[in-house]
Amino acid sequence: MKKIIYLIVVTVLLISCNKKEKVDVLVTNAKVYTVNDNFESAESFAVKDGKFIAVGTNKEIKEKYSSEKIINAKGKPVYPGLIDGHCHFFNLGIQQQKVDLVGTKSYKEVLEKLVVFQKEKKTSFITGRGWDQNDWEVKEFPTKEKLDSVFPNTPVAITRVDGHAVLVNQKAIDISGITIASKTEGGEFIKKEGKLTGVLIDNAADFVKIPAPTRREQIQALKDAEKINFSYGLTTVSDAGLDKPVIELIDSLQKAGELSMKIYAMVSATQPNLDYYIKKGIIKTDRLHVRSFKVYGDGALGSRGAALKKSYSDRHNHFGALIFSPKRYEEIATQIANSTYQMNTHAIGDSANYLMLKTYHKVLKNQKDRRWRIEHAQIVDEQDFDMFKNIIPSIQPTHATSDMYWAEDRVGKERIKGGYAFKKLLNVYGKVALGTDYPVERVNPFLTFYAAVARKDLKNYPKEGYQMENALTREETLKGMTIWNAYANFEENEKGSIEIGKAADFVILNQDIMTVDISKVPVTKVIDTYVNGEKVN
Ligand SMILES: [Zn+2]
Repeated sequence: MKKIIYLIVVTVLLISCNKKEKVDVLVTNAKVYTVNDNFESAESFAVKDGKFIAVGTNKEIKEKYSSEKIINAKGKPVYPGLIDGHCHFFNLGIQQQKVDLVGTKSYKEVLEKLVVFQKEKKTSFITGRGWDQNDWEVKEFPTKEKLDSVFPNTPVAITRVDGHAVLVNQKAIDISGITIASKTEGGEFIKKEGKLTGVLIDNAADFVKIPAPTRREQIQALKDAEKINFSYGLTTVSDAGLDKPVIELIDSLQKAGELSMKIYAMVSATQPNLDYYIKKGIIKTDRLHVRSFKVYGDGALGSRGAALKKSYSDRHNHFGALIFSPKRYEEIATQIANSTYQMNTHAIGDSANYLMLKTYHKVLKNQKDRRWRIEHAQIVDEQDFDMFKNIIPSIQPTHATSDMYWAEDRVGKERIKGGYAFKKLLNVYGKVALGTDYPVERVNPFLTFYAAVARKDLKNYPKEGYQMENALTREETLKGMTIWNAYANFEENEKGSIEIGKAADFVILNQDIMTVDISKVPVTKVIDTYVNGEKVN
């Protein structure tokens, strides 16, 4: 009897030793860039309950774990899920609810596009942008008759490519209360044979009453944006400027399982928003994090709105402008400094950067680990770089390669040396948060990677790269798109690398962006995107 019991015990022990732990997903035969502290590689990892529970060699993982779902990566590279550190996710989605008419070759093609769009989206007010009659055979402004016959009951307003003219149909005219007698300064209601043609110039276009997107349209926008982002391997986005209703909509969709995207929501810093969210405190769920405000410091460099310390080089006695007074910035910053929130300010010109950095330091005093950010940090005065010691530079590499054709015209040879100075900013702070600012730039994060490393456009211009002393290495760039972005969002303990205990957000690519010829990086394709261990693309 004793012998039998002994045998049973041994057998049970043997079975339990051999029994592998069941996990939800196993990834094997991969070239895993863990992006951990030592930037180590691995071959395989196990995912359970949405988290990485083991990372190692094929042998190590296979010996210990089994799963009904094994992804054989066949040597393909795997990276942590990509994070866009500064973008406009909701706006991108809203843009998908408008018809893109750029490149249309005739009025007929415009109408066809509108019909196809409306069939899919069924919007209550059709809006679009991008037509240009100079590209058409008939180069005169169109008139609304054809639009009326195709859309007699749905209002339509489509904007010309330059934004200075809008074509509307009769329905839009009627609900906007526009009549033949309508008049405005700085605009024109174009008429032909005593009738409105539907073309409204400049201020006349302000008469068109386009309703705010409905809840249904907002939901569609978020879902459309999510789909685009997942297709590029993005698993977290930092939306730079959201209002309460959209944040609450995101939260409810995520909780209902209808939105999987993880969102770091920077709250637009209006006074009501400041008061409301500071009182409420940090909001943190598995997929939503609200603990920062987005403030506007100045305008953009292209339109000469960025605030410069000295006059623009290509416009005498013009300095751009701050959006608010220095006093107001200090008020906002003080209110945020006294809370647990982070302050993220858009600053493009060297004057805006200086003022915001100075204000940050003044109000934060010696507070530690507040991780306040400057968004863009585009033109920085040589002597101000050191002020980024405690302030995160949140930068967009594709801005450098989009602006490089004219940026020097704006600021001249000397100041441009402190422009798009990514490496220099990295050297001061020790990290950079990388983003795109889409839909200003394209969503594609591989263009960010390429712009950061090669500092060239897609036509290989300039041959030697643009101000290459400020190029980032591939390792720095990958960190900037993953773990450093997680850090900039106070999320480095839960995501940003493939490490035990972190959320299983990862992406499998068709080629290794760390080793492939840099000119090939822009055409990188995403094979699979996973969020919390679930395939989302
Ligand atoms: Zn932005």
